[in-house]
Amino acid sequence: MYFCVKLKSFVFCLALSLAAVCGGIFLAARGFESAAVTAAANAAEEEVFLPVIMYHSLLKDPSRAGDYVLSPEVFKADMQYLMDNGYTTVFISDVVDYVENGTELPDKPVAVTFDDGYYNVMTYAYPFMKENGLKGVMNVVGTYTDLSVEQDEHNPAYSSLTWDEITELYESGVFEIGNHTYDMHSMEGRKGCKKLYGESYEDYRKSMFDDVAMLQGMLRDKSGTTPVTFAYPFGYISDESVPILHEMGFKALLTCYEKPNYISREDTGCLLSINRYNRPSGVSTEEFMKKLLRK
Ligand SMILES: [Zn+2]
Repeated sequence: MYFCVKLKSFVFCLALSLAAVCGGIFLAARGFESAAVTAAANAAEEEVFLPVIMYHSLLKDPSRAGDYVLSPEVFKADMQYLMDNGYTTVFISDVVDYVENGTELPDKPVAVTFDDGYYNVMTYAYPFMKENGLKGVMNVVGTYTDLSVEQDEHNPAYSSLTWDEITELYESGVFEIGNHTYDMHSMEGRKGCKKLYGESYEDYRKSMFDDVAMLQGMLRDKSGTTPVTFAYPFGYISDESVPILHEMGFKALLTCYEKPNYISREDTGCLLSINRYNRPSGVSTEEFMKKLLRK
């Protein structure tokens, strides 16, 4: 009898101990799980993965295809791929608002940018984008625009946008307009906006102001928009340009580094070097997207 009671209490104690151990493990696991969920939520709040594409010219003629000329059909296939995979196009100014003003971004944001202000983007991309509720950033060059205004003929093969067309794109809500310099889109003398060897900071600052601020004023007066986004011509960058562009009112600077972006409200510096993937011809949409969307 005594043995029997002892045995029963031993079994009872063993069961109790096992339950306590299992419960502890369960609670610890739950605790770990909830800590992991919280950490993931914080990380998700802190950093947003932002792929950015850089397009240039869109032309149907296959003999013109190259690193900076893409067929309109391939452009549409790219956009369709992004839509089918749950991505939402955003303006760069939306990203600025997310970082600086606490607004939200969609779940899977992507930015579609076009450099140099080609008229063919208005001809081939704009109607498709409008129809599908897509957004893009058009980075214009002032001298190209002035030249286009003087041309009698306006042709997708070689024309740039006029001030009136820039106004139309901006007012449609489909395009944000970015500044791509008035007359520094050149490799002669200075490479784009790069500071010259031996040039003083003051001289460099004056050159940048004379050119870039002039285009800002023209876009404000002729097209009704004052860009907050600046795209470096050819991706040539000098560190000294950053405070100068900031002083001119730019909030986001676009580069040509082919890397992903991680946007964070904790680090406003992420806006001062937004990486972009150039979209060349000769690469399938799937292949290009694999590179662009890799985190
Ligand atoms: Zn350019």
